[in-house]
Amino acid sequence: MVMDFLILILYNIFMRTSYSNLEVYEICPKRYEFQIIDKIKTPKTKEQFFGTTIHKCLKFLFKKAPLYPTLDELLDFFSVEWKEANKLKWRNEKEKEIYFNEGKRILENFYKKNIPSFSIPLDLESHFEVEIKDEENNTIHILSGYIDRIDKINEGKFEIIDYKTGSKMPGQNSLKGNLQLSIYTLGFFKKWPNIAQLNDIILTLYYLKHGEKLSDKKTEEDILLTKQRILKNIWEIEKNYFPPIPSKLCGSCSYKKICPMWSHLYQKEEQIPEEKEINNLIKEYFSLKQQTDQNKERLNLIKKQINAYAAEKGLERVFGDEGYFSYQNQTIKDYDVERLKELLIKTNLWQEVSSLDKKKLEKLLKKMPLELVKNIESLQQIKNKKIFKAVKKDLEIIKKEIPEE
Ligand code: SF4
Repeated sequence: MVMDFLILILYNIFMRTSYSNLEVYEICPKRYEFQIIDKIKTPKTKEQFFGTTIHKCLKFLFKKAPLYPTLDELLDFFSVEWKEANKLKWRNEKEKEIYFNEGKRILENFYKKNIPSFSIPLDLESHFEVEIKDEENNTIHILSGYIDRIDKINEGKFEIIDYKTGSKMPGQNSLKGNLQLSIYTLGFFKKWPNIAQLNDIILTLYYLKHGEKLSDKKTEEDILLTKQRILKNIWEIEKNYFPPIPSKLCGSCSYKKICPMWSHLYQKEEQIPEEKEINNLIKEYFSLKQQTDQNKERLNLIKKQINAYAAEKGLERVFGDEGYFSYQNQTIKDYDVERLKELLIKTNLWQEVSSLDKKKLEKLLKKMPLELVKNIESLQQIKNKKIFKAVKKDLEIIKKEIPEE
């Protein structure tokens, strides 16, 4: 406690954030800007409402332990909470009913599967705050969050559980770089520094729709990398770095209509004359591109046939009325790179030929100690460049992939 106090006066407190905010930043910095910086309010989505309601029910189930409610009491609680669903915009009554029945199914399955092993949780919706030290800048960032449930499973052994209500269950490998579970580990040890060793903490994502758990353990190295990852995100937020990162998660984003990646899709619906012109230009672009691609394909085929003819006849030149194909032997030189490098370093000529492989460096940065990363990043000159990409896809398909909430 005294130590914590000393740390707080030696360092400045810089940023206060939560795990959920950092998660938004990692999904898409632009979404973070809309939601956390600009605080643009959006109505609750069906999935958010569904997830929150199931979480509330599971809290109700464990809250009075060991006097657990009966299954009927749990389902009654769910029905009462579900009344709030009337405030949401549903496609029709049927859709609302499907969600309601799915909620009941999840709770029934959870109850039946878990009741034989119900134990008193160590904590529910366990709030934590951890300090993330940025040694370089003498600052401390406070990171907070809530852990759904913590169980003591054996003497000195604990399980941190986070409930998931999404439809998809990812593969076991996805847990390796899972930021949430690593941050929860930090939260656990901040709250109870002496009751367990890192190796005694099981981290679990409980996929309620599937009734399956995915579990993992973290190592000291994972924790170190997590702290580095948190700091990296914080530095980028401090630099106001908020580019849009489109992904399949745009489907669940409430800011599509104002996001530069999607806003034009919605403006298009308004059918203004200028839109027609752009539409025609895009149409022409893809048509010309298709012709070019077909021409390229044909050119390659022709080349192959003429080359085969020259090889078969043993010719170094093949003539046509419009010109000729010529073949000349060329010597391709390759070097033993390591020995060449050694030699050039000895003769002080290395600087003249070496060049930086940025892709390799980016990969290396992920494995380097934070101090070195910071030093290298301080040498970066950031130039913003727009990368052009034309994607040919039917508009109706795009609209289906990015559904309206
Ligand atoms: S729509 Fe996609 S790209 Fe735009 S802010 Fe949302 S998540 Fe980011």
